[in-house]
Amino acid sequence: MKITRTIIIALLVILVVVVGLLVYYLYVQPTTVKRVLRVGTSPDFPPFEFINETTNEIVGIDIDLVKLVAQKIGYEVEIVPIDFDGLIPALQAGQIDIVASGMTITEDRSKVVDFSIPYWEANQAILIVKGSQFKPRGLEDLNGKVVGVQTGTTAEELVTKYINETSANIQVKSYTSYILATQDLLNGRIDVVIVDEPVARALQRTYNVETSATIETGERYGFAVRKGNTELLSAINKALSEILSSQEWINIISKYTG
Ligand code: GLN
Repeated sequence: MKITRTIIIALLVILVVVVGLLVYYLYVQPTTVKRVLRVGTSPDFPPFEFINETTNEIVGIDIDLVKLVAQKIGYEVEIVPIDFDGLIPALQAGQIDIVASGMTITEDRSKVVDFSIPYWEANQAILIVKGSQFKPRGLEDLNGKVVGVQTGTTAEELVTKYINETSANIQVKSYTSYILATQDLLNGRIDVVIVDEPVARALQRTYNVETSATIETGERYGFAVRKGNTELLSAINKALSEILSSQEWINIISKYTG
């Protein structure tokens, strides 16, 4: 009799513990644990995203901005490094939730992803080795030359379109990263790099390169989310528009542009 009672009490205790744990994990914990926003970025695009050589961390304007946005909408951030031309496929495959990578809002890209409101304006620049005799003033001066760009960028599109339209004799070399393109420029393997102008300005602070010309393209950067992810996008846009008119935004910019 006594043993049966002990067993029943023990079973009841176990039941209460199990039910308690279930309630905690199903209802209480999800509201206390922050959701994670997986951010895809190609960290070869200073000052927007690059690797801090001393800490080995991915930092930059985009990273600080996306962290601030995430914080405002209740997310923690996980930074996922991906080559630029792999960002949209990764977004579509559900491996990341947002692209923050100095990505220009284009008509073609807007067919496959949704963009946030713009947060930056940029043109393209022609980068040469510092002090080089060859100083192209525009695409028309690149005949017979080898041009480096990053795969999948608007710079690649710009020069390819120019070649198709003018049948200019320009050889295009596409790199997985703008850092590799810049190194090949310094090694003399290519004649110029075409890259977004604010990035050219950052690169010439670290490398022995300079801008010889800019090409007006009037690009605007936006964050990209999966097509139809409207709930996330409107939250992002609301946070972004608040941040873009704040002192915090000015601080982020001066932190990375000096
Ligand atoms: N703004 C350019 C583009 O969207 C380059 C971006 C990059 O290389 N990170 O294609």
